[in-house]
Amino acid sequence: METPKTLLEAITFFSDYENCRQFMISVRWADGVVRCPYCDATKLTYLEKARVYRCYGAHSKQKFSLKVGTIFEDSAIGLEKWLPAAWLISNCKNGISSYELARALGVTQKSAWHMLHRLREAMTDETGKVGGNGPVECDETFVGGKVKNMHKSKRPKGVSLHGGGGKAIVMGMLERGGRIKAKVISGRTKQQLNPVMSENVEAGSHIITDELTTYGFLETPYNREVINHALEYVNGHIHTNGVENFWSCLKRSLGGTYIAVEPFHLDAYVSEQVFRYNNRKDADDFTRFSACLMGIQGKRLTYKALTQRPGVV
Ligand SMILES: [Zn+2]
Repeated sequence: METPKTLLEAITFFSDYENCRQFMISVRWADGVVRCPYCDATKLTYLEKARVYRCYGAHSKQKFSLKVGTIFEDSAIGLEKWLPAAWLISNCKNGISSYELARALGVTQKSAWHMLHRLREAMTDETGKVGGNGPVECDETFVGGKVKNMHKSKRPKGVSLHGGGGKAIVMGMLERGGRIKAKVISGRTKQQLNPVMSENVEAGSHIITDELTTYGFLETPYNREVINHALEYVNGHIHTNGVENFWSCLKRSLGGTYIAVEPFHLDAYVSEQVFRYNNRKDADDFTRFSACLMGIQGKRLTYKALTQRPGVV
C-alpha cells in the first residue's frame, strides 16, 4: 500500500473508501485478517455496497462495519472524514479547534467537537512508567480559568480551591531523552502526589524537582535532586527545562487553539499534547497518524459520557 505523506495526499488517499478499508484492516489486525467483533470468526463475506461484513456465527448482529469495536463505533461520519481528522489532530503542533475541523470536513461544529474528543481518547496512553533509562524531571503547572469563580454546580469535583487561585494543576514527569507523562491532579499534598508518582515513575528512579517540600515525603523511594528557582535556574544537569518546555507547548495550544477548555476536559487536552510530544522525534506525519490510529480499539466515548464527564482525578 502506497502511504500518504502530506495532508493533501492523505485527503486524496482516504477519499477512496477502498483505501480507508485497507488501512483500517492493517491497523486493526496484524495478520490482515478481519475478525467478527462478536464471535471472532474469520469466515466472513464482505458486502461491498453496504460496506459491511457478514458473519455466519450464531449471534444476533450478523453484519458489522470496520468501525465496530473502535472509537468510531456508532458514528454516522464516514471513515473518509474520520481518517483525515485523525491526520490533522496528530500532526498540527498546536492542535485543531472544532471550528477549524468543522470547516475543513464539512460537518457541524458539534460533530467536530465530539470527533476530536474521541480522537483524544485514542491518543491517551496510560501504559508504562517513565524513569527506567534516565533522570525524570517532575514539575507542576497551573492551567486555566479560576475555578473559584465558577458556579458551584459547574466546578469539577476534587479541584482544590487553595493554591494557584483555584486553577487546575497539571503534573508532568519527563524522562530525559524519553517520554513524558502528565496528569491533572487535585492538589499538591503528599497524599495527592504519591499515587500519581508511583503509578507513573519507576521506583528507584533519579528525580529532579523544584523545592516543593512535598516531594520529600514521597512513599516510593526515589533519588531526588532539587533545583531552587529562587536562586538558580540551571545547575549543571539539575534543571527542569525539559518539562517546562512541555508546559509552554501545552499552554500555547490551550491558549491559542482551545480558547475555552472546561476543567473537566483538561485531561483530554493534556493527553493530546503528551501524544504529540512523545511522537515528535524521528516520526513523520504518517507514522504519527498511524500511532494515533493504533489507539482506536477497545475504546468508546459516547456523547453522553463526554458531556457528563465527572470531575478530574
Ligand atoms: Zn460472528
